[in-house]
Amino acid sequence: MAVDTPARIAILGAGPIGLETALYARFLGYEVDIIEQGRIGASVHDWSDVRMFSPFHMNCSSLGLAAIEAQDPEYQAPAKDALLTGGEWLTRYLLPLAQTDLLNDHIQQQTTVVHVGRSQLRKRDLPADDSRHSADFRILLQDADGTERIGTSDVVIDTTGVYSQANWLGVGGIPAVGERQLRDQIHYRLPAILGDQRDRFAERTTLLIGSGYTAATNAVALNNLISETTDTQVIWLTRKPAGTDPIRSIPDDRLPERAALTAQANALAHGSDERFRYLGETGVLSIEQREGRYHVEIAGDPGETLVVDEVIANVGFRPDLSLFQELQVHQCYASEGPMKLAATLLAQDSADCLDQAATGPDSLLNPEPNFYLLGSKSYGRNSNFLFAHGLQQVRDLFTVIGDREGLDLYAGMKHLG
Ligand SMILES: Cc1cc2nc3c(=O)[nH]c(=O)nc-3n(C[C@H](O)[C@H](O)[C@H](O)COP(=O)(O)OP(=O)(O)OC[C@H]3O[C@@H](n4cnc5c(N)ncnc54)[C@H](O)[C@@H]3O)c2cc1C
Repeated sequence: MAVDTPARIAILGAGPIGLETALYARFLGYEVDIIEQGRIGASVHDWSDVRMFSPFHMNCSSLGLAAIEAQDPEYQAPAKDALLTGGEWLTRYLLPLAQTDLLNDHIQQQTTVVHVGRSQLRKRDLPADDSRHSADFRILLQDADGTERIGTSDVVIDTTGVYSQANWLGVGGIPAVGERQLRDQIHYRLPAILGDQRDRFAERTTLLIGSGYTAATNAVALNNLISETTDTQVIWLTRKPAGTDPIRSIPDDRLPERAALTAQANALAHGSDERFRYLGETGVLSIEQREGRYHVEIAGDPGETLVVDEVIANVGFRPDLSLFQELQVHQCYASEGPMKLAATLLAQDSADCLDQAATGPDSLLNPEPNFYLLGSKSYGRNSNFLFAHGLQQVRDLFTVIGDREGLDLYAGMKHLG
């Protein structure tokens, strides 16, 4: 619903979409508090060695570039068709953006958002009633030293992403027997296989689980290690039907980097190198650590117990719903994204995230007035989110908050290049 300035907007998470949301709000004259559990762009730091699929012009906003250029006339933006690594995206765009005067003093790092509620109101009070907006938001924050305190705001925008919460690797998406005890030892993201963590994978056997682009990235890195060493081995396991490709190819893919990764990973799965074994149509039943190695029981007829040194599970991520469990947020029972957006995305179902059309302001509304989910978290378990979709959401959302149909600050700015 519309909120006039001056008003205070709490933006949860200083990832790429949190920063862009805050910038847009500042341009419109709102007070913002950006609350980040780690450091700015924490998720992107984690995959800093990975090259992005989308060219730079899809990974920046005209507003962001204008803000950085106003601060630093010497700023050289990357070429619009440059394919940056996550690390380059950070150093050449996201961090300069965060350091602009518009944002710098408004970011609280090392501060975790634990819960969001409303003063005077509980979840069951005034169901789906717009008058809930009159009670301000009450936000429980925890500092790095464990100290807790309360923040307040008129609007809350949750851009905390999904990267902090990996799915379970067991059959059916629940923990494999023993997985919960080994949660901290299993890799659920992108370990630096060819970098700092090389010693953990070189001359050892790794079990890789998953059939998305993250698994494909790890498969290719592990195979590079195989070719550089004598006794590195990999077992790649997916639930895809035997004989099919582990990674879905997009016909005439417009993103060449993505097409190349898909082709490379699928070729590995169908290859004949004994050091790289691929198993389709299976899943993990149990996992146990004995004498420093993992014993992993997998499904099949007959099943098998694999003995490996490291386990990488790239089985997707899920949103942390606990942050807003005291609010009236309508969630999709399949994706766990907010319901209206999830329904719109389902109707547009496509294998290629580039085909995703703008979902419109209405898709961002939910029963809790002035509470919104944007960015990758708004897609829930749907992994098709692109930064460019987030910018559309930011623009759409402020037509609602600012109550100005057609408002588009991005269009008013000088375009890149
Ligand atoms: C390997 C890889 C490659 C990718 N390549 C591309 C690409 O080429 N193009 C593209 O468009 N997208 C790509 N993506 C998707 C990319 O993640 C998103 O575009 C973008 O990072 C999403 O930004 P976000 O702000 O929604 O979430 P995030 O980047 O995850 O940011 C969320 C922030 O919230 C913080 N946070 C989480 N919980 C809390 C809490 N409780 N309290 C406070 N702070 C919290 C996190 O620390 C983080 O800083 C890629 C993703 C991966 C993993």
